Amino acid sequence: MADRALCLEPVELSGRERSVLRSVAARGSGSSLSCELEAGHGHEHAASVEDGWWLRWWPGRRVLESRAACAIAADGGERCRVPAGHEGGHSFDLAVFPDGDAADQVVADAGWRGGRR
Ligand SMILES: [Zn+2]
Ligand SMILES: [Zn+2]
Repeated sequence: MADRALCLEPVELSGRERSVLRSVAARGSGSSLSCELEAGHGHEHAASVEDGWWLRWWPGRRVLESRAACAIAADGGERCRVPAGHEGGHSFDLAVFPDGDAADQVVADAGWRGGRR
């Protein structure tokens, strides 16, 4: 199964983007993020900022927005957590984070991103 790699392109939230998140009362997950799409995708990267909030960026442009998850379910019931309409494989088909964040992804499915910080 998880034999495909994540892109993991790093990105930093700008001050303006962090203030937007504060204005919607999002907790945020720190300013250092990384793309959670499959490695080798097209121009558009996507990093999870907070439950339901994504930073998408591509050359010369970036957008912070609230997007519904793809939510396609794997055979085991795990749901794809990247935004609907994403490129590449579903999140459950991609390699988990090297430091063993698989448990955190399960927690994230319950609506709380605890444990990353
Ligand atoms: Zn990417
Ligand atoms: Zn998906």
